[in-house]
Parts: sequence; structure tokens; C-alpha cells
Amino acid sequence: MQFNTYGGNGARLAASLANSTEHTPAALTEVLRREGIEHPEVGTAQAEDLARWCLRIAPVFGEKDTLHQVDLVNGLLEDGAACVRISVHDGYHPHLHYLRDEDDLVARVRATTAGGLAVAVCGAGGDLLGRCKGAGCATVFIDTSRNGRRRFCSVGCANRVNAALHRARGARARRPGHATAPPSAVEEGRPPR
Ligand SMILES: [Zn+2]
Ligand SMILES: [Zn+2]
Repeated sequence: MQFNTYGGNGARLAASLANSTEHTPAALTEVLRREGIEHPEVGTAQAEDLARWCLRIAPVFGEKDTLHQVDLVNGLLEDGAACVRISVHDGYHPHLHYLRDEDDLVARVRATTAGGLAVAVCGAGGDLLGRCKGAGCATVFIDTSRNGRRRFCSVGCANRVNAALHRARGARARRPGHATAPPSAVEEGRPPR
């Protein structure tokens, strides 16, 4: 069996599952295939199990309370990771596995996401597991930006928020007695100075 269970891939898979809105076997199979999971064909019962797992993964992202976030991930480890082993199978660099030989797809997904999130929290800090601040957007992401201050899932969401701020500022400026609002720190999209 080959599947990469080092933190990066596991955390990325967790983000993709948290962002999955459709939990049909076909939709989940597509997510797992895209993320490089071997033998990703999801059956009906597995889809229900994975849907429940997605609901447990999602709140880990964007959780600002570190102790709560750690509790959530520890719960995932408790139910998903049977062991921790360094594996060097199939010529891969040494990487962590969280199961012994296990063929069940749901067990593999649980183990790799729980382990990946744990490595992300301990290795890079829980802030890395972000959630979009765009209005009405709950998309989660792994923040790989240099300053670690990413707030939006996409340029689209950042631009919508900046456009709304711009309009609000314009409205305030046009009203008599109101000076133009100071520039906001929210304007991402721009490169850091
Ligand atoms: Zn492996
Ligand atoms: Zn967004």
C-alpha cells in the first residue's frame, strides 16, 4: 500500500474534506483521488462515515482557542490514529504513518488526516489551519504565506471584502462632517511592504 501520510499531505487532505460540501460516494471519491489517496473508491456506508469525519475535521480550522483546537485534534487522534511509525516504503523519504497495515479506506483517511493535523498544530502552530474571513464564506485553508497572516481563501474573497470597505469609506467620506476613514489593515491582495 502506498499513501503519503506525512503532515503536509494529511493536513491538505483534511482541508479538502472540510471544504467538501457534497458527501456522496462519487463526490468524496473525487476528493480522495485528487489528494492522491490510493484506491479511493468510496462506498455508501463509507461515505456516511467520512461525512461524519468531515464534520469533526472542519472546526479544527480557524479555531483561535489553542486548548480547544488541541482537544479537537486529540479526539481525532484517539479515534483515527492507531500508532505512529516512520515508514520508508516504496522509496519515499522517511515519513510518518499512523496505522499498521490497514486496507480500510475510511481508516486510512482518518489516520492520515488526524496525524496530518496533529503535525501541523505541533510543527507550524494551529494558526496555520485557517478559515476565510470573507462574508458568507467558510472555506478553510492551510496558510503557507510567508507572514502567516492569510485571511482569505482566494483573491476573489479578498477583493470582495476590500471593495466593500472601499464603498463604505466612500460613503463616509461623502457625508458632511466625516473625514475619510484611515486606510484599513485589511487590504490584503497587496504585497507586504
Ligand atoms: Zn507512506
Ligand atoms: Zn472565501
